[in-house]
Order: sequence, then C-alpha cells, then structure tokens
Amino acid sequence: MHDINCFVPNCQSRPYAPAGTQSVCKDHFINFLTWRRRRGPQMFLKYAAMTMQDRDAIAAEWQKTIRVDEAPSNSPKV
Ligand SMILES: [Zn+2]
Repeated sequence: MHDINCFVPNCQSRPYAPAGTQSVCKDHFINFLTWRRRRGPQMFLKYAAMTMQDRDAIAAEWQKTIRVDEAPSNSPKV
C-alpha cells in the first residue's frame, strides 16, 4: 500500500499523481515536475519513456532534494 499518503516523508497529503510505483500529493507532484524540468529536456524525455520501476530511481533521487520544511511541528528546529 503506497497510496494512502504522499510518499514524501512527513507529508500527510492525499496522493494526487504517480511518481514511479508510488504516489505523491499535488504540491509534491508539481515540485517533482519542476525538478525534472530544471534537469533539462533530456531528463524530461527520458523520464517519459521510462517504466514505472525505472521512475522509482528518479523519484528517489528527487526525494533527497526536498527540503524538510514540512517536518512535524514537534521536531527540533535547527
Ligand atoms: Zn506530498
């Protein structure tokens, strides 16, 4: 089960669109889209041609770049 919440850690939003075999919320989907676009047209086309399994690797790479400003409010602020 991957589609109860967005697959980004600490994100409780409802899934909106797939990112690989998992699902992300609307905000994170747009973020993912923007990130891929910034990587250039090659990445964009490459991703479009990928299988869902291959997309997981891209999604994982993107996930590492997300700033954790959505952390729960009880976590210590740096
Ligand atoms: Zn999310």
